[in-house]
Amino acid sequence: MDGPSGTGKSTVSRRLARECDAAYLDTGAMYRALTLAVLRSGTDPADPAAADVAVAAAGTLHSVTDPAGPGILLAGEDVESGIRGPEVTGAVSAVSAFGSVRTVLVEHQRRLIADAVAAGGIVVEGRDIGTVVTPDAPLKVYLTASDAVRAARRGRQDARAGRERDTAAVLADVQRRDALDSTRKISPLHAAADAVVLDTDHLSVDDVLVRLLELVNERGLLR
Ligand code: C5P
Repeated sequence: MDGPSGTGKSTVSRRLARECDAAYLDTGAMYRALTLAVLRSGTDPADPAAADVAVAAAGTLHSVTDPAGPGILLAGEDVESGIRGPEVTGAVSAVSAFGSVRTVLVEHQRRLIADAVAAGGIVVEGRDIGTVVTPDAPLKVYLTASDAVRAARRGRQDARAGRERDTAAVLADVQRRDALDSTRKISPLHAAADAVVLDTDHLSVDDVLVRLLELVNERGLLR
């Protein structure tokens, strides 16, 4: 499941995994956790030294792939709540653009995916899942939505987490992060040629889930 921020990827990926009795992997949380490690080290996220800090921290990263209670640990510490704030959100695109950071995380993700597939299946969400991480995935979905709808969804999500923000500021952030994620040299955000593209502007979470379950069934992916 790929697509820009605010398209509902996390919500629908997690629900789809639960419906299908599959594991769930939020790869954005992995990039966010390494960004938190960079910020805590006091390194400028755009400085190449940040890549070394992030790669070292990747050795201590642990993803919990249970869709009923997903999580992310850094050196044994639960960092789930610390990675969603504005500091990490503002710096994550810089850290995720480093080739060495992507190499180490993609390897990590492929190992987790192989284990989960052997155990029954997995729903993975991110920016490069269908294009780079698992190019032979049996179902690739690319979620889109207009900038205004995505900013409104992100704004509501922030408000629920106690971070009230001005709509224009949220829109500017969403657009800035998308521009960085889709223009970076390595693994830029784009739909795989064989991805099913779903525009979610006029679809509720339930609508998207129904469509995804149809696709999963059509492809015979349920055992
Ligand atoms: O999905 P989320 O908004 O949590 O992702 C945070 C950031 O992590 C993205 O803006 C992007 O820079 C990076 N990311 C990535 N590749 C992925 C997942 C996330 O580069 N597969």
